[in-house]
Amino acid sequence: MGETKHTGPVKLPRKPDPSLWVSKVPFGLGKVKPHHIRDTMKVVWENKDNLRFATRILTQGVCDGCALGVSGLKDQTLTGPHLCTTRLNVLRLNTMPAMEEKYVHADVADLRKMSSTELRQLGRIPYPLIRKPGEKKFSRISWDDALDKISDKMKVLDPKKFAFYTTSRGITNEVYYTLGKVSRFLGTNNVDNASRICHSPSKTALSRSIGVGASTCSYKDWIGTDVLVFWGSVAANNQPVSTKYMYAAKRKGTKIIIINPYHEPAMDNYWVPSIAESALFGTKIADDVYQVNIGGDIAFMHGIMKHWFTMEEMVHGSAIDHEFVSKHVNGLESLKEKVMAYEWDQLEKSSGLTKERMMELAELLAKSKSAVFVWSMGLTQHRFGTDNISQVANLALLRGFLGREHCGLMPIRGHSGVQGSGEMGADPFVLPGGGMDDANRSRVETIWGFEIPKWQGDIVGVSLENALLPDDHERKLELYYLSGGNFLETMPNPDFVKRCLENIDIRVHQDIIFNTSTLVDAKEAVIVLPAMTRYEQPGGGTSTSTERMVYFSPEIKGPRMEEARAEWEIYVDLAKRVKPDKKHLIDFKDPFEIREEIAKAAPNYDGIQHLQSRGDVFQWGGLWLCEGGICPTPDKKGNLITVEIPELRKPEGHFYVTSRRGKQFNSMIYHETDPFNDADRYDLLLNEKDAAALGIKEGDPVVAFNQYGTFHGRAKFVEIKTGNVEVHWPEGNALIPKGVYEKYAGIPEYNTAVILEKAETYFAHKDTKYAEKRVEELEMD
Ligand code: SF4
Repeated sequence: MGETKHTGPVKLPRKPDPSLWVSKVPFGLGKVKPHHIRDTMKVVWENKDNLRFATRILTQGVCDGCALGVSGLKDQTLTGPHLCTTRLNVLRLNTMPAMEEKYVHADVADLRKMSSTELRQLGRIPYPLIRKPGEKKFSRISWDDALDKISDKMKVLDPKKFAFYTTSRGITNEVYYTLGKVSRFLGTNNVDNASRICHSPSKTALSRSIGVGASTCSYKDWIGTDVLVFWGSVAANNQPVSTKYMYAAKRKGTKIIIINPYHEPAMDNYWVPSIAESALFGTKIADDVYQVNIGGDIAFMHGIMKHWFTMEEMVHGSAIDHEFVSKHVNGLESLKEKVMAYEWDQLEKSSGLTKERMMELAELLAKSKSAVFVWSMGLTQHRFGTDNISQVANLALLRGFLGREHCGLMPIRGHSGVQGSGEMGADPFVLPGGGMDDANRSRVETIWGFEIPKWQGDIVGVSLENALLPDDHERKLELYYLSGGNFLETMPNPDFVKRCLENIDIRVHQDIIFNTSTLVDAKEAVIVLPAMTRYEQPGGGTSTSTERMVYFSPEIKGPRMEEARAEWEIYVDLAKRVKPDKKHLIDFKDPFEIREEIAKAAPNYDGIQHLQSRGDVFQWGGLWLCEGGICPTPDKKGNLITVEIPELRKPEGHFYVTSRRGKQFNSMIYHETDPFNDADRYDLLLNEKDAAALGIKEGDPVVAFNQYGTFHGRAKFVEIKTGNVEVHWPEGNALIPKGVYEKYAGIPEYNTAVILEKAETYFAHKDTKYAEKRVEELEMD
């Protein structure tokens, strides 16, 4: 943890710099790019029935979009306005009226014909609902009856047979903390959150490498660092205001390096709407782009390190920061041995990059005095995600890029609440203030006043699968309590997920809107509970940004859903009903009381108890974690971790597929077309050379298939590494295997091998079992 404190936002230079312009043609006319003014006007139109409330949310609230973090329109990095179309798109969730009765009580068969986007547009859930087997429609139920029904079930169930899950959609730290506590009070460790499917490997890897699972630096460190690396991250699309920080970095001479299979246009050139010269003429962002194979990152990083060790053999100190390593790092010799044992041709084959290209980046980093590594789902969503991230930490540790200005490791988050979810303990491996080890468990037990179950709780994917266990199995899932989330669209293999959801006795959806998962049947009942948004909750709430800023978001005056309740309060009410004799142990009267307790239970969050007004914020851990190279590990040193190059099962002639985000906020889709590349949601992105070999022309209907499923789309030619293809998420989820989890962090594998065909060939051969035979080939290989 660091002593140095953040000093607040800095100013951008006033004078323009034409050397960074994309073109002299104003507003990028004629180019494929987002139209921020048009999009903003569309949002104004959408919110026209509630414009004042919408304005108050934007100017007073903490953004419930991504975790870049902003309070009102001000952030902690740069002066000037901070607003993006992601936030504007999400805004409608907070301002829209209740669903009309005709939709609330419509035949679910009709509702099932709608997409999640259409369901979302119907409006907010107005009051508690229930639907039992054989019933075609949801019926209204009182809060008392709904919570009694859930608590009656919980009372008779072994706590291993129920589970909780929470998404990150606008959820506050207070809600996560209460959920983590309530689930343990009810006797279960089956509690998990949305970070399981995004950044859980980042937390796990950073904990083992440097002793703390969070971003070690602040966004300010981007501005003026020698090299800013985006690894498997399209921050310009998913955290749009980050482009303003990239612009500021470029103005200070920072080199920006992009590593991704697809040369993403959004990371190449961007028109930052809040910077006049950029809005007019655009800003060139990427200085260099390394198109790595899907899953080839570990080999790439081995290549970088191999060159460093070779440079060291020639000139001592030419690549490794020996002073830093000798004082602050363990494991140099074993890492060197592992890295040097790999041959260049193995590294080239796995990474898809030439030795020369790997050496190029190695030399750039070796010459640099500072670097920040930023990464996202491109590194985490693999069955070797934790190894991917430890490998990034290896690079930073060898070069001493840690715990000082302009240096650091940053898992950039896409959901406003997700950083806090694990830190608050809504996680089967974590309690507030640490893990589930005896010391932390007994410390938290003393604060909470009750025993915490000792058995290992299940991660979200396993809890879901537990629904299909035999009835007499001790972990057969019989009640699943979900706060938000849409597993049908976020987890691999939707057909399998549907079967799991249907096989649960009672499924609870605590949410603000319907989605496709809400409509799936359950064995005894589907219960829907209307939640408040973060802006409606009395006493406000806090959320933690990627750079560990804990922001206070006040309650905002405006219209309310009459029956919606604060999410933390619903959990407490339920817990008291299940264990009325112990209800004094779980009572909170308001969020101020929750914050008081968080400050004790999670010592890093000491300070949260003082947040109470609009704009209040503090950064836990200071400006840099591991300041001066001192890591919060038992021996205060960082650990170099040796990792293997993963075996990629992609037989010759087949493709590796991964998913990408278009104009969407996590699984919520806002436009059918991606404004950065004009791709439709069902476009399959592939390299023209690969297409030519298969006789596929741009726009041709194509089928990607494997032993898990089939994806029907259209070919779109883009600059993607040959042998790799991309489909949109969640549309492409049918291709992803179920039940394959990363072994340390439990994230599902979201990449796999596929066979690609022109649709006409695929259909022509389907009757002769041609497709099935080719899948057999794939399995054998
Ligand atoms: S970049 Fe992220 S935090 Fe900032 S306004 Fe957009 S969605 Fe909100």
